[in-house]
Amino acid sequence: MATPAAPRTIAAPVVEASDRPFWDAAAAGRLLLKRCGDCGRTHFYPRPLCPFCSSDRTEWCEAAGTGTVYTFSVMRRGTPVPYAIAYVTLDEGVTMLTNLVDCDLDAIRIGDRVRVVFKPSDGGPPVPMFTPAR
Ligand SMILES: [Zn+2]
Repeated sequence: MATPAAPRTIAAPVVEASDRPFWDAAAAGRLLLKRCGDCGRTHFYPRPLCPFCSSDRTEWCEAAGTGTVYTFSVMRRGTPVPYAIAYVTLDEGVTMLTNLVDCDLDAIRIGDRVRVVFKPSDGGPPVPMFTPAR
């Protein structure tokens, strides 16, 4: 039996000054990551200091917005509508905690290819989530 992902209210993210560019880009339909100017590695969530080498030379870069489901769980209890929480590994190598949306929740599989979509939040900027790329 299919479980379609129904629309649900998404709490507004808390926007700090240091991650304002991330949310401004999300409002424009772009997914940003941070890349280190010293070690060259990409990280998520965005931080002022590189989590690998502690450099403060981090810069914003745009992600392709595509990735693979690393793992997921469909939440059915204690929520008005079922939804899928997931870790998605982006093609840039970072892993995001996110939701899988606009799909049959019973058809999701680890390893599925997904692409980013931005869903409105309750009074805040849109939030990046993922949907099957097929
Ligand atoms: Zn670094």
